[in-house]
Amino acid sequence: MCYAIPGKLVEIRDNIGIIDYFGEKKRARIDYSDVSIGDYVYAQGGLLINKIKEKEALEILDAWKELFFELKKIDAKLPRVQKSGISESVLEALNKVNSNRELSKEELLSLLKIVNKDELRLTFETANNIRQKKHGNACCVHGIIEFSNYCQSNCFYCGIRSGRDIKRYRIDVDEIISIAKDAVIELNFKAIVLQSGEDIWYEEEKLIYLVKELRKLNILIFLSIGDRSPDTYKKLYEAGARGALLRFETSNKDIFNKIKPDTTLENRLELIKNLKSLGFVLATGFLVGLPEETCEDIINNILLTKSLKPDMYSLGPFIPVKDTPLEKSAFIDKNTLLKTIAICRLADNDANILVTSALETQNSAAKKEGLLAGANSLMVNITPKEYRSLYRIYDERAGSEKGIKENINDTLGLLYSLGRAPTDLGVK
Ligand code: SAH
Repeated sequence: MCYAIPGKLVEIRDNIGIIDYFGEKKRARIDYSDVSIGDYVYAQGGLLINKIKEKEALEILDAWKELFFELKKIDAKLPRVQKSGISESVLEALNKVNSNRELSKEELLSLLKIVNKDELRLTFETANNIRQKKHGNACCVHGIIEFSNYCQSNCFYCGIRSGRDIKRYRIDVDEIISIAKDAVIELNFKAIVLQSGEDIWYEEEKLIYLVKELRKLNILIFLSIGDRSPDTYKKLYEAGARGALLRFETSNKDIFNKIKPDTTLENRLELIKNLKSLGFVLATGFLVGLPEETCEDIINNILLTKSLKPDMYSLGPFIPVKDTPLEKSAFIDKNTLLKTIAICRLADNDANILVTSALETQNSAAKKEGLLAGANSLMVNITPKEYRSLYRIYDERAGSEKGIKENINDTLGLLYSLGRAPTDLGVK
């Protein structure tokens, strides 16, 4: 089974390759491999990651062909809701999106405040249609390895904060390489996210070695390692990493200062901008439902994410964690989350939007609903079980009791039931 389909490179314009997937064209940045028109290639996260032999590609494509068109049909057949019972203002806002006009902040805010069931459904459906119009049925599936739960930061929301008494682990660099190798060779992953607490035990040289070894697997390497100097990130880019996932968590300075004692919003944003300018495929976003957060904060979070021009939106519900300063906070409701996803899509039509496991943890149906409210990307946790249960950024994470293969089968089953195909998403 594949998490990306190879395509044929049909055109090169400067450093952008046009890749054909069964007649559907997507763009990908070329900076890893030497490629020529006519080559069969894999792309991930909008980046061409490697080329493969024609014979191998044709075999994979042959196996995929029927399913590819079948999935497209399923995706195209998704139910349409009636427009009766919808207020004029909601209809007007959604029509505006449908005719490619930008929504004002007030309009976004009013969509976030919708409670009427029919209006909610129409909002999700509109976001889903725009996802389909912009990206077809493509869906990115990345594997994530959580390699250390040591953290020197003491963020109030986080279950692996330094001040929380939990069992800690670090996966040795060679073991991380072997986990990644299995994921690529046995399970066919094409993109791997490496995530950890802020753990400087993995000093620059260790990370450079890790990235160089992983790059030999011809995959897209995504880093989610928190605060490191731009210089370290630059070296990791040179070693072969091309993705960086770093959320700003909240655009509200006062909330930020209360929950993230070890840094400032300004510093975090500066690092995020630096990552973008270094050339990283950038995933960024925020937590939804932090204490004292208002609807306006959520819209500001969406607009700030958009202004950072991310390649991927990453957002999820804040889940209160036992024995942390925010343990008594309220859970955010599912509809607010789904509306946030939908509004990201309505505010930034081309966006790639990740459904995170926090969403699923909070509500088991939410992953599917997120994919039907505008999201088009997800991650499968490939951390070995014994470590996964210790990576407690929040407790009782969805899927943490399952084996990796079971998680993958569930994910693919869900994608296929929705008619989504794991082609690359393409760059804007
Ligand atoms: N140390 C890295 C990776 C942190 S974990 C960094 O700071 O970027 C990745 C994400 O988990 C964080 O960015 C945060 O948004 C999320 N997270 C942490 N605690 C959480 C909680 N209690 N509920 C939901 N998401 C949480």
